[in-house]
Formats: sequence, C-alpha cells, structure tokens
Amino acid sequence: MTIETNSPQETRRIGVEAGKAAHPGQVFTLSGDLGTGKTVFTQGLAEGLGIEEPVSSPTFTIVQVYEGGRLPLYHFDVYRIGDIEEMEEVGFEYYLENGGVSLVEWANLIEELLPPKRTEITIEKDLQKGFDYRRITIEDVG
Ligand code: ADP
Ligand code: MG
Repeated sequence: MTIETNSPQETRRIGVEAGKAAHPGQVFTLSGDLGTGKTVFTQGLAEGLGIEEPVSSPTFTIVQVYEGGRLPLYHFDVYRIGDIEEMEEVGFEYYLENGGVSLVEWANLIEELLPPKRTEITIEKDLQKGFDYRRITIEDVG
C-alpha cells in the first residue's frame, strides 16, 4: 500500500491508524533518510496505542519503552549503532518476543536481525512534488 502525504500531521495520522490496528508482537520497521518522518510516524503510532507520553528520537539510547497504552511500545532508533552486537546487549530479541509492539527506525542498518514477519514502512521524499511531500509505503512481509 502506498500513501502520499503533504504535511507532518497527515503522516502522523497514518501512524495513528497503524497504532489503533497494531497487534501484540507486531514489528514495524521504518526506513528512509534523515528527516523523512520516521519519528513523526512513530509519534502517531504511539498516540494510536493510547500512549500519552511524548515520543522523541533518543540520541544516545537505542530503545525507549512506552507503557500506559493498550500495548507497550518498544521504540528503537538504531541510527547511531556502532556494532550490531549492541542490539543483543539491549535485549532486542527479548523485546520482540514480549507481546508488545516493536518499532525500529533505520531498520535497514540491522537487516540481519529483523524477524522475517514484519510490517515494513518506507518513507521517501520527492522534492519535485514539494518540500513537505512524502511517499509512504506499507507492506506486510513474512
Ligand atoms: P526522521 O525520524 O525520519 O529522521 P523526523 O520525523 O524526526 O524524521 O522529522 C521529519 C521532519 O519533516 C519534521 O520536521 C516534519 O515536520 C517534517 N515534515 C514535513 N512534511 C512532512 C510529511 N509530509 N510527513 C512527515 N514529516 C514531514
Ligand atoms: Mg527519527
């Protein structure tokens, strides 16, 4: 499925819908360049799960846990990961199997660790279509 948005609010809304429909154990992977809207989407997803705490992009933390929603959200941002072994140290696999909803920004950087069954989200810009234009592709694989 491909959706086009023209504002952060629209992208956030796509995230809200994904959060409302999310099921225990679901893994979302987000790929796309810096500033495409992965965190904006994540903020919507958290809202859709009923999480009221503000969601940010942690600079020096790989995982951020949000409880208090319909399901816990495990938000990974692996942009700054140096070595893939760091994921093991933070308990990546444990989180995936914990019955919550997991979401990985920059998932392409840890491709070999991703579960085969996941919801892949790709966000792309197209400057010819405007500064705020984003093409969002959502695909269930595995
Ligand atoms: P990422 O996590 O992918 O690095 P962010 O979500 O932190 O990106 O930032 C996306 C930036 O792009 C925000 O400043 C947001 O306001 C802006 N933006 C402009 N148009 C859109 C859009 N259509 N969808 C999402 N974000 C948008
Ligand atoms: Mg981000």
